[in-house]
Amino acid sequence: VRTQLLALYDLKSVDSEVLEVERQAAEMPSQIEQLERQVEVVRLEVGQLNTELEAQIRQQTEIEGQISEESAKHQKWKRRLMDIRSPREYQAMSREIETGERQVRELEEHLLALMADTEQRKKVVDERHERLKGEEDRVRQAVEVLREKERGLTKKAEEIRRGRERIVSQIEPQLLKRYEQIRKARKGVGVALLKDGACLGCQMKLRPQHLVEILRFESVEQCPTCQRILAHEVLLADRNLNERPAASPPLA
Ligand SMILES: [Zn+2]
Repeated sequence: VRTQLLALYDLKSVDSEVLEVERQAAEMPSQIEQLERQVEVVRLEVGQLNTELEAQIRQQTEIEGQISEESAKHQKWKRRLMDIRSPREYQAMSREIETGERQVRELEEHLLALMADTEQRKKVVDERHERLKGEEDRVRQAVEVLREKERGLTKKAEEIRRGRERIVSQIEPQLLKRYEQIRKARKGVGVALLKDGACLGCQMKLRPQHLVEILRFESVEQCPTCQRILAHEVLLADRNLNERPAASPPLA
């Protein structure tokens, strides 16, 4: 019973380790996704700024077209002005030219302001674009690190599983079945350490009578509360005592 309990305890440790490694490995995809989302935010921002910039450049071109069209019209009117004999008509035409030219000056002022603003925007877009490239590089590297970590964890889980098979071969099939059932029902943990008279799986104190029975090591006992198989602390303490001389190097 002692050997079986120790093997079960080792199996529990291995299974917990696998669970932990798998939990860590399972976090990797969401971490990668989160990093890529960060870049996507910057990419969208740059795209938006670029769209605005392009719209403004189109607006500039439109105004430039308007200015040259209007100016050509005014030139034509001015030439026609020479031929006008009637003073009233002359005055009306002059006023119209004047108004038109004022409008053109306003357009030119507006265009200058736009051009200055466009320059500013171009600078911002360039700068953001640089930042985006930096961010993309950073994330690419970070993702590579995470992928590598994921591969490492997967490999580690495989190694642990191979070690598990060795332990499993030492456990009686019936007992192993019982362990697996408890494990399934109890968040992946089928064995609990019994320390200071309490089950460390659920923290409940055991009846003294039950403790006495357990210490006889005649049967595999379960915690009455959480049903986990109980491994008494003395088992581990004994094993540590037995293993210590073998593990430590001989004294010189
Ligand atoms: Zn318990």
